Amino acid sequence: MVFQPQLKILIGRDEIAKAVDRLASEIKRDYQGKQPLLIGVLKGSFVFMADLIRQLDLPLELDFVRLSSYGATRENSGRVRVVQGVKTPIKGRDVLVIEDIVDTGITTSFLLDYLRKRKPASLKLCALTDKPSRRRVPVSIDYLGLSLPNKFVVGYGLDFDQRFRNLPDIYALED
Ligand code: 5GP
Repeated sequence: MVFQPQLKILIGRDEIAKAVDRLASEIKRDYQGKQPLLIGVLKGSFVFMADLIRQLDLPLELDFVRLSSYGATRENSGRVRVVQGVKTPIKGRDVLVIEDIVDTGITTSFLLDYLRKRKPASLKLCALTDKPSRRRVPVSIDYLGLSLPNKFVVGYGLDFDQRFRNLPDIYALED
């Protein structure tokens, strides 16, 4: 039998769009005169990144990184692995990491350390969503879209077992 989880809407597309607009204004203001390198964390951030960059009137470049994920579970194993590294040279660049969600902070803090070692001129973090009550490793988010309660969410790029990324709103997965 196919597993059919219950989905409850948490953040509608209008609210997401407002958060993306605000983040784009903040980023545009701070990166005037610069050529930032935006690094998206696959796969979850691709929908957010696609919406965000179309509002950024800056001479930006893009790259992607893919890290090991939870797979079909909802818990972070605590072990992070780079599955696909960044191809663009980072040294001396103004790097802005684009995350879908910061949960325990383990993945993001690993990624920031990995990038920092490559000596960017600056390194900042933009996250669409954050679950601060779940934090195990401190992470400072320079541009934050929305704070979420302690619920597992899907939609707008976020999956459960590779499903639901295509939903235009953000939903809580109910057991
Ligand atoms: P962290 O290392 O901060 O615990 O988790 C980061 C990664 O876990 C995110 O990039 C995302 O892939 C996944 N993740 C954490 N919380 C959620 C959630 O509520 N929903 C989904 N779909 N993924 C999550």
